[in-house]
Amino acid sequence: MKITVLGSGTSQGVPVIACDCEVCMSENLKDARLRSSVMVEENGQIFVFDTGPDFRQQMLREKVQKVDAIIYTHEHKDHVAGMDDVRAYNYKWKKDIEIYCTNRVNEALHREFPYVFSDYRYPGVPSVNVNIIENQPFEINGVEILPIEAMHYKLPIFGFRIKDFVYLTDVSSISEKEKEKMKNADLLILDALRRKSHVSHLTLDEALQLINELNPKQALLTHISHYMGKYDDLIKELPSNIAPAFDGQTIILNK
Ligand SMILES: [Zn+2]
Ligand SMILES: [Zn+2]
Ligand SMILES: [Zn+2]
Repeated sequence: MKITVLGSGTSQGVPVIACDCEVCMSENLKDARLRSSVMVEENGQIFVFDTGPDFRQQMLREKVQKVDAIIYTHEHKDHVAGMDDVRAYNYKWKKDIEIYCTNRVNEALHREFPYVFSDYRYPGVPSVNVNIIENQPFEINGVEILPIEAMHYKLPIFGFRIKDFVYLTDVSSISEKEKEKMKNADLLILDALRRKSHVSHLTLDEALQLINELNPKQALLTHISHYMGKYDDLIKELPSNIAPAFDGQTIILNK
């Protein structure tokens, strides 16, 4: 299984428009963060988790030729805004894009992109097939995916586990029961927004504490804000099995 970090930045991305802080001005490419998303290649399939505003740029950067399914964590703009650009794959492969999301996310997609779902569809609009998921394991062409329900302030969102890979972004709290699904992974990619407390995201300390409890072999932090500081400074503070994710990072898991 191959995991690619498509984006590791918070909702505004890093650099932030019109910000001249040292992180936003950094020349290190690891400090430039598109909106959070990951791609998983497993069993000949390509799955993309979320289509934020940078989806187009991410697909171009990674030269992604096909997408077998898009799986949504939640409906916030920084996770769905790029959905319109799936039409490139509709044209290329002459078929719908399979989407997996909760009923609530599906309703939001209908509000955000009414023209995709209208009875009269203007020529050239995206063509998608929505598969509704609940908090139960589901399968896409032989790959089992386990949803993990967590809270993003008051909004229930999904993280996902595929074999020994766990992805959970935009989380502020999680029940003991759901935590069980995340334990002993080979790779955990987890939300860590910044150092100061935040109502809807884990702070660095909260993320480190949760990682400690979940005991993954390796953990990467994502959805990072410019307030977190520079990549090179942050990585020095972290234990050897934990690092900030960076855009374009790839990890191969041997299972
Ligand atoms: Zn977000
Ligand atoms: Zn900044
Ligand atoms: Zn969010």
